[in-house]
Amino acid sequence: MDTAGSLRRFLLPALLLCACLLLWREYAVAPDGRLHTVFLDVGQGDAAFLQTPSGRQILIDCGPDTALLQGLGKRMSFFDRSIDLLILSHADLDHIGGCIDVLRRYTVTSVLFPAVDADVPRFREFTAMLTQQRIPVLLANPAQHIDLGDGVLLDILWPTDDALARFDDRNDLSVTLRVTHGETSILFTGDLGEAAESALLASGADVRADILKVGHHGSSTSSSTGFLLAVGADLAVISAGRDNSFGHPHPSVVQRLQILGMAIRNTAEEGAIEVIGSRE
Ligand SMILES: [Zn+2]
Repeated sequence: MDTAGSLRRFLLPALLLCACLLLWREYAVAPDGRLHTVFLDVGQGDAAFLQTPSGRQILIDCGPDTALLQGLGKRMSFFDRSIDLLILSHADLDHIGGCIDVLRRYTVTSVLFPAVDADVPRFREFTAMLTQQRIPVLLANPAQHIDLGDGVLLDILWPTDDALARFDDRNDLSVTLRVTHGETSILFTGDLGEAAESALLASGADVRADILKVGHHGSSTSSSTGFLLAVGADLAVISAGRDNSFGHPHPSVVQRLQILGMAIRNTAEEGAIEVIGSRE
C-alpha cells in the first residue's frame, strides 16, 4: 500500500474519532440550564467548581496542589480559559495550594477572600499576582450577596465584623456562604470550628441548606449537633484525601450525620462528586 493509501485508511478515521470525542466532551461540559456543583477530587483539601445555568463559573478553594488543574480540566471546555469568580475560604494550604496555578492558566475576573491578613507565603505570592494582573478583590462581607444571574444567588454569611474581632484562628474566619438556585441550596463552611459555628448561628444567618459541604473535612472539631440541625441538609459531602493522616472524617461526625438522616458522600471514596440542580 502506498503512503497516501495508508493515510486515508488509518489517519483520517483516527482524526475523525478524535474530533468526535472532543465534540462529545465539549457537549458534556456545556451550560445546560442547570446549576452544576462539582466537589473536585483534590486529595486532602477543598475545591468546588460551580457552573451556573448560562455558564458562569465559580471556583471555591483550590485544594492543596496541582490536582486542582486536572479536576478543572475535566469540567471545563477545552477552549475555556476563564473563571468568573475565585473564592478562597481561608489561607490554609489545603485550600489555596493550587491558587497560583489557577492564575497562571486561567483569566480570573474577580477574587473573594476573608479580610484576614494571613502571613502565608503562598497567599502573599497570590495577592501579589492579583495586584500585578489587576484582578479586583472582594473582601467577604456578610451584608452583601452576589447575584450570579439565572436566579443563582451567593449569600456571604461569615465572617462578620464581630467575628473578625473575636476569632484568631484562620479556620474560624473561613468564608461561609450559601448558594441558592430555585429549590436547591448548598452551604460551604470552609474549616469553621464549633465555636464559630455557634457564633454564626447566633448572628442570625440563615444556614438552611439541602446540601452541606461538611466543615473542616469532617474533623471532630466541627459539625456540632446544633449546627447540623440548623442546616438540616439531606446530603453531606465530605472533601478529604484517601487514608489521610488526620483521620478525616472523624467517626463521631459520620455518626452524627447518619443519626440526623443525612446521606453522606466522600470524595476520598468516590472521587469528584457532582450535584446537578433542576431546571428553573
Ligand atoms: Zn482544610
